[in-house]
Amino acid sequence: MAGKRDKKRCSFCGRGEDEVELLLTGIEGYICNSCVEQAHNILRESQMLPASDFDLGELPKPKEIKAFLDEYVIGQDEAKCALSVSVYNHYKRLLQRNDTEDVEIEKSNIVMVGSTGTGKTLLARTIARLLKVPFTIVDATVLTEAGYVGEDIESILTRLLQVADYKVDEAERGIVFIDEIDKIARKGDNPSITRDVSGEGVQQGLLKLLEGSVVNVPPQGGRKHPDQKMIAVNTKHILFICGGAFDGIEKKIAQRLNTHVVGFDSVQNKMNIDAKDVMKYVTPQDLRSFGLIPEIVGRLPILTSLRPLDRDALRNILTEPKNSIIKQYVRLMEMDGVKLTFEKEVLDYIVDKAIEYKLGARGLRSIVETIMMDKMFEVPSSGAKTCRITKEYARKQVEKGFAVTAAAQ
Ligand code: ADP
Repeated sequence: MAGKRDKKRCSFCGRGEDEVELLLTGIEGYICNSCVEQAHNILRESQMLPASDFDLGELPKPKEIKAFLDEYVIGQDEAKCALSVSVYNHYKRLLQRNDTEDVEIEKSNIVMVGSTGTGKTLLARTIARLLKVPFTIVDATVLTEAGYVGEDIESILTRLLQVADYKVDEAERGIVFIDEIDKIARKGDNPSITRDVSGEGVQQGLLKLLEGSVVNVPPQGGRKHPDQKMIAVNTKHILFICGGAFDGIEKKIAQRLNTHVVGFDSVQNKMNIDAKDVMKYVTPQDLRSFGLIPEIVGRLPILTSLRPLDRDALRNILTEPKNSIIKQYVRLMEMDGVKLTFEKEVLDYIVDKAIEYKLGARGLRSIVETIMMDKMFEVPSSGAKTCRITKEYARKQVEKGFAVTAAAQ
């Protein structure tokens, strides 16, 4: 009967060692993992512990964050700097002892404007690798006003909760990247199709999150229903980063610039405006004329733009980033003991094709895949030790590949 009395028990809650995950031994007794956790929370609530588990000294500084982004994303320096500073300030805000300090640091949500395929999502994904707080990417196109087909705004927070393992206090310090924010813009004078006729209901819902409020979140996502248990999440400290292509905004910017340049110094101003890259002149006013409500624009104080990718940038994207497409293929072949090389002209040819097909950076991968498919099939069983891709071979493969795609359409 070495039974009940000999069993080790938590001296605080009395649970036996087989009822808990971990039992720590002290001089006079034991403590289980959940009691340690509870004690930790009590200390945090009574502000005897800092609000966050990290200290400023060990956090990457804005320059280090940018250097990390540089390893994966080509160009886009302005957006990289804005992101780095914002993330760093987000950490600093979290380090403030809750609301007791006289200077309360407010959050600075960001909006990144740039044509599709210029690296907005890539920036978000890259920064996620570095973050010490929960992070999620959501797509604004699926969001709808409650009552319409699609996902409620609260689903954004469901994702964050899931990433944070349902630890509410962790989720409340997280970062959310909202992709395609432009898709919820009000559609001007054309009230026909959008999800809630004007698109404004979704924006109002989003505004509530951006402003900071306590939101009831369905833990499993999906539609709310009456008997579902909700989790209350305070969005006050959650940082929102938004990205969107804002198709056609260039016209609005150009219009605004033109009306401005009428005047005495018009000649001088006109010369300073780079027509190919009007996006860099984007202002909050342009987001409003695109259809975002002023309150949302006001809650996204940092506005930054991404540049269109020129030939040199596309060429660099092929080979420079740490996990560039070419490096990935070289690695794939290396695993079969094969040394893969490309003629220099092949890389220029790939860039030419991406430009010709108007596919931008997104197209680089599909073109490389078209070129490499047959080799990837044959080489592993051929016993070859090297594989060199010539321009002639690349051209043949692309013409064959795209002919097949065209025929299938
Ligand atoms: P966006 O979100 O702006 O539409 P993405 O970030 O999804 O564009 O980019 C699509 C793909 O193009 C990425 O996966 C990446 O391979 C490539 N890409 C785009 N821009 C860049 C860039 N600036 N540097 C490196 N790769 C890029």
